[in-house]
Amino acid sequence: MMKAVVLKERGAAGVSHEEVPTPDRPFGWARVRMLAASVNRVDLYMRDSGAGITHALPMTMGVDGVGEILEVDPGAGVAAGERVLLYPGDFCGACRHCLAGDQPLCRNIRILGEHRDGTFAEQVSLPARSLVKIRPDGNVDQAAVLGVAYLTAWRMVFGKAPAGPGSVVLVQGAGGGVSYAAMQLARMAGARVIVTTAGEEKRAHFRALGVETIDYRNTDVPKAVLSLTEGEGADLVIDNVGERTWSASLRSLARGGHLVTCGATTGAHPSADIQRLFVRQLSVHGSTMGSMEEFRRLIRAWEAGGFAPLIDSVFSLADVPAAFERLEHPARMGKIVIRIA
Ligand SMILES: [Zn+2]
Repeated sequence: MMKAVVLKERGAAGVSHEEVPTPDRPFGWARVRMLAASVNRVDLYMRDSGAGITHALPMTMGVDGVGEILEVDPGAGVAAGERVLLYPGDFCGACRHCLAGDQPLCRNIRILGEHRDGTFAEQVSLPARSLVKIRPDGNVDQAAVLGVAYLTAWRMVFGKAPAGPGSVVLVQGAGGGVSYAAMQLARMAGARVIVTTAGEEKRAHFRALGVETIDYRNTDVPKAVLSLTEGEGADLVIDNVGERTWSASLRSLARGGHLVTCGATTGAHPSADIQRLFVRQLSVHGSTMGSMEEFRRLIRAWEAGGFAPLIDSVFSLADVPAAFERLEHPARMGKIVIRIA
């Protein structure tokens, strides 16, 4: 038996820290002793709704994480005792998208904590091909947050319309996990980064990093972006906010610019502004997670010191409900870690 955080029914009262059986390990799979995981907005979506995601309750929560291999078959590419990052899904490896190296599009993917048992547990069983070996001496809390928030940000910044030196990137609501990660990765790539945020404390934090800020509560964001860029606008806009910022994001884009979205926290049905799209030849990209290759590159960039994830706070496995409360706190900035071992 082992300890895990199980979603037994919808709503905060359905989240339970309890004993469950340790997972089976089919051939080709590895059993991993979890060290840490992180809280993601999708955890709250699963807790409160789960609509559109095929799954059955009870289910262990948690989408990402880092651990050490307890048991794996010889020749799997990873070995017992090694520290590994968990790719957030168990992909089939056989469909056209897997064969093309685009695992997030896998027709049969089972995402941890969404379609199958997740990482808020002392042990996780996963195909060995979903594990990436990392250095044994790295920071565990930082490693724990790479698998979902940072992988998602990587594809948004580099996978669609790559940000690079001299490009202008606007990140909407940059205090959130994915948005903050996108800000860091765009900075690492040498882009000029502008973020929208609220309050002097957060603005000072970003200014200290060399990032320009716009307070969205009292400023017309597109006007401010155009004024900062001599009327050009942003080459790339990262927007996970959704309906509340969509129109401002489109109006902040340079001609030929790209908007990338991976979430719709404030609503999913903004006006499309089709005339602006074709006249200015704008592109809109949906993005979610990243491929195994993008995951490897992200991990190597982190190990090389290219960026250091911002950790807001650390909770124990028994305190996951408190971690969920922290996620919704306005002062939260960066990622919330669940320390398991
Ligand atoms: Zn597949």
